[in-house]
Amino acid sequence: MEEIVDLLKEVLDEQRVTQNPTQLEHHSRDESYHTPHLPDVVVFPRNKQEVRDILSLAYKYEVPVIPFGMGSSLEGHVIPYRGGISVDFSLMNQILEVLPDDFLVRVQPGVTRTQLNKELKKHGLFFSVDPGADATLGGMAATNASGTTSVRYGVMRDQVRDLEVVLADGRLIRTGTRAAKSSSGYHLTGLFVGSEGTLGLFTELTLRVYGIPEATMAARATFPSVKQAVEAVISILSAGIAIARIELIDAPSIQKMNEYKQLNYPVAPTLFLELHGNEQGLKQDVDFMRELVEAADCRDFQFEKENKARQELWEARHHLAYAFIHGSPGKKMMTTDVCVPISELAASVENARRWIDETHLEGAIVGHVGDGNFHTLLMIDPKNADDIKQAETINEKIVLDALQRGGTCTGEHGVGIGKMKYQQQEHGEAFLLMKQLKNTLDPKGILNPGKIFP
Ligand SMILES: Cc1cc2nc3c(=O)[nH]c(=O)nc-3n(C[C@H](O)[C@H](O)[C@H](O)COP(=O)(O)OP(=O)(O)OC[C@H]3O[C@@H](n4cnc5c(N)ncnc54)[C@H](O)[C@@H]3O)c2cc1C
Repeated sequence: MEEIVDLLKEVLDEQRVTQNPTQLEHHSRDESYHTPHLPDVVVFPRNKQEVRDILSLAYKYEVPVIPFGMGSSLEGHVIPYRGGISVDFSLMNQILEVLPDDFLVRVQPGVTRTQLNKELKKHGLFFSVDPGADATLGGMAATNASGTTSVRYGVMRDQVRDLEVVLADGRLIRTGTRAAKSSSGYHLTGLFVGSEGTLGLFTELTLRVYGIPEATMAARATFPSVKQAVEAVISILSAGIAIARIELIDAPSIQKMNEYKQLNYPVAPTLFLELHGNEQGLKQDVDFMRELVEAADCRDFQFEKENKARQELWEARHHLAYAFIHGSPGKKMMTTDVCVPISELAASVENARRWIDETHLEGAIVGHVGDGNFHTLLMIDPKNADDIKQAETINEKIVLDALQRGGTCTGEHGVGIGKMKYQQQEHGEAFLLMKQLKNTLDPKGILNPGKIFP
């Protein structure tokens, strides 16, 4: 490895090739409970040519390469289990071009979503995908991330118009164009989005952006049961209301949220909702929505029209994971992430709650319910084998239940190492095809090895 490190120092300058123990440790883990493992070296490229040079070297010497964005992923995606080179994209953080008339933006992969939104605001635009962490756009594309707004605007795969990718052997390709539609060739953009660093390294992304809506309205609705909350979701979606976010938070999570943010929301299954549109249209939508939630036995319905109250509501939602983390010092969070057809959601969530309550673990349920996607947040002591076993059992039950209901083992967090064991069952013969594609694009198996494929 020493020879490779010397060669890397010829490609980048000395300061951007490091074996500093703090840096190795930082790149040995993500935000999950999965066991860390050190890379041999961490590099910080500044441009695509440097990324190409790094990969050409790695290809020649058959060294693993693990792309690293913010390290906020939740299934062990960035952990270098076979050592190698962790490629940190934090210095490739330029917003290259805003194209307001095309509703597009060109960015380097290390740009974070809040950094982008700050810039876009100057143009009256915003980028829609909002995972709870301030992740990089390269990492978000690589995991096909989504969040609270996908019910209206879609997931990361819907936003990526074009990618610039460095392949395993150092070749550089583009996967799309700036055109809104294309029937030309295979959909390589769709293939690379969600590939978790196993097919290539992104050096530039062209992304869709949207006009900031003229009016925004947020609301909170509480229900006697999760089932009634989900019934309300289905009615709202079928009514064609301009819903932009619709999130379910179960009663124990509301309790935690109240404690952490000093709020006093009623402790019951709750929907957090947001509507985007214009003043006149929203007024009608709001009245209609009130009727629909009342029909589902809603007990408390509050609108938050003021900017500050809306921000407080969504900040509380986005900080929920941290409410659990701060409330359980020394513990780590294990997050499950299935997505099922909405008609199956209430039963799936109710099962999950029962399985959590059968253990000694503390756990919450939150969901991007407009998409049928929900998470359980389980607090575990990573040094306690019983905690890990219990959490893994709950996860397994939830995943198998979701697969049986026609769902998927991961709605948005990705496979990493945590969901690897369900790939064959979920995809069947298609999983073999994925392996063949991986072997074609990465014949020496150097790109983020041990992820997605055992
Ligand atoms: C509190 C919390 C809440 C979260 N909520 C959500 C949520 O609501 N929705 C959601 O989808 N996720 C959520 N996540 C997970 C996480 O934020 C996402 O997975 C995110 O997309 C990862 O981005 P990152 O920049 O941290 O990437 P990293 O974790 O650094 O990397 C993720 C993957 O992308 C690859 N990668 C990184 N950069 C590149 C590149 N330039 N080219 C190719 N591959 C690359 C890595 O190798 C790895 O496989 C949450 C995480 C936390 C901690």
